[in-house]
Amino acid sequence: MSTQRPTSPERGDFIREIVAADVRNGRHATIVTRFPPEPNGYLHIGHAKSICLNFGIAHEFGGRCHLRFDDTNPTKEEQEYIDAIQADVRWLGFDWGEHLHFASDYFGQLFDWAVDLIRTGKAYIDDLTADEIREHRGTLTEPGQNSPWRDRSVDENLDLFERMRAGDFPNGARVLRARIDMAAPNINLRDPVLYRIVHAAHPRTGDAWCIYPTYDFAHGQSDAIEAVTHSICTLEFEAHRPLYDWLIENLPVPSRPRQYEFARLNLTYTILSKRVLLRLVNEGHVRGWDDPRMPTISGLRRRGFPAEGLRDFAAMIGVAKADSVVEVGMLEHAVRNVLNRTSHRRFAALNPLKVVIENYPDGQVEEMEVVNNPEDPSAGSRKVSFSRELWIEHDDFMEEPAAKFFRLAPGREVRLRSAYFVTCREVVKDEAGEMVELRCTYDPATRGGDSPDGRRPKATLHWVSADHAVPAEVRLYDHLFTRPDPGADGDLFADLNPGSETVLTGCRVEPGLVEAAVGETVQFERLGYFSPDPDSRRGQLVFNRTLTLKDSWARLQARARQDS
Ligand code: ATP
Ligand code: MG
Repeated sequence: MSTQRPTSPERGDFIREIVAADVRNGRHATIVTRFPPEPNGYLHIGHAKSICLNFGIAHEFGGRCHLRFDDTNPTKEEQEYIDAIQADVRWLGFDWGEHLHFASDYFGQLFDWAVDLIRTGKAYIDDLTADEIREHRGTLTEPGQNSPWRDRSVDENLDLFERMRAGDFPNGARVLRARIDMAAPNINLRDPVLYRIVHAAHPRTGDAWCIYPTYDFAHGQSDAIEAVTHSICTLEFEAHRPLYDWLIENLPVPSRPRQYEFARLNLTYTILSKRVLLRLVNEGHVRGWDDPRMPTISGLRRRGFPAEGLRDFAAMIGVAKADSVVEVGMLEHAVRNVLNRTSHRRFAALNPLKVVIENYPDGQVEEMEVVNNPEDPSAGSRKVSFSRELWIEHDDFMEEPAAKFFRLAPGREVRLRSAYFVTCREVVKDEAGEMVELRCTYDPATRGGDSPDGRRPKATLHWVSADHAVPAEVRLYDHLFTRPDPGADGDLFADLNPGSETVLTGCRVEPGLVEAAVGETVQFERLGYFSPDPDSRRGQLVFNRTLTLKDSWARLQARARQDS
């Protein structure tokens, strides 16, 4: 990360304003943030918002951002997730340097601090069951009741806590609770649980522990150990802040972090919850965590979304204090902006229709010069083989053209991009009446796609040479859910879109696409953006449709501007 220290934030949201004020007032010498995922699933686009915010602020203020795994719940956490999360944060373009941390690194210190709380009478061992604890907790309008175990002696508490740690008790038999106030208006302050017994191997500490700290006990203390200055989290933790502060105040921690909350990202047609995403994977609704329909970072990457598009999206939506739902079209818009600028154009026929150019010499091949990206002259051009038999897109031909259909039709001339003008002379059909091929003629004087007499066909089509094209499978994607608010009627899984994936086989693509690397997104001219899937093999290419070319979000914005 850069060490420059700008005096003002790049984008002024309320969190950046707080940080900027803290820098101005000299409250902190170095700004330290952290991104604290629990390794119980893959990261999703909501996490990307948090990553961009935490790493972005650290970068803008010349500080640092830690990647800290909040690995306090061994029954749900796995090494696979730890690895995937690191790969995703890196791919998004962020670097934690040497600051890869784990809450589990602090288990020893956290245990000692728990002992401190017991010694000072601020924590006790409770023998109530989880259900009984819930019953004693009270409600928003009624105070809770003290546990009968609340007034144990310090010595007894110390002894029981040591025995919990030693494995003397089964899961759930006892917990360590803070001794705060069972009548506190904030339920989080009604003697919250700090430690629970979980006999389970941990991905990192193995069998060293059978008691684990809760999120509330681990999080703020981990922040303090790492000298985090701004502990930025989503709004659901707002009510936990008094507890966060209570623990920091009542423990001999080495620094004084502060928690700030922002609104989590919600997206239309999308569910951002690891619990639900895990079910989609486990129940086989998708091809895995990185299925291109998943809102996971790995899914969006596999689909062909560039990291820059995700970062631009995060910048577009900003950071607010009130929950809202963002149109998924806005994410797509940000991604299209990047792809339009950066992606190379290629020819492909998804639903190929054979064209035979009757007056083109049999066996002749010409190498046509085709521009790679009209938006970027530095992208240069490539040679594409042209020959007597071609594939065009089936949709680009109508035997009886509808009004406003300007593409190929019997007797009509169109331009083949960067090649020649061709005219359709005849439609050949099989016995069943299915179109087999079009017989066409070409005008040799139009080489390169220009006519010396100024003739201008109304349509320009893409094409691939039948002898040279490579077969491919193409997977088209639509929203994973049918409605903008999945689950609003109660049954989320009933809202799954049965047409969210369409697999096309027998597509034909230009041969250079054999070299396209996974992670490289191209534009199939006139069709959309596509990216090679990791399932691709030589001889069997597979492409994912990243997005169509149509930007409905930009159109809506333009209309809204017109109306206002
Ligand atoms: P989920 O609710 O999807 O299961 P989580 O909050 O349990 O996610 P964590 O691993 O605890 O997942 O999240 C790591 C960080 O990412 C937290 O600081 C959390 O606030 C933030 N985060 C999670 N979901 C979103 C979201 N939709 N928008 C913004 N930030 C999010
Ligand atoms: Mg969480």
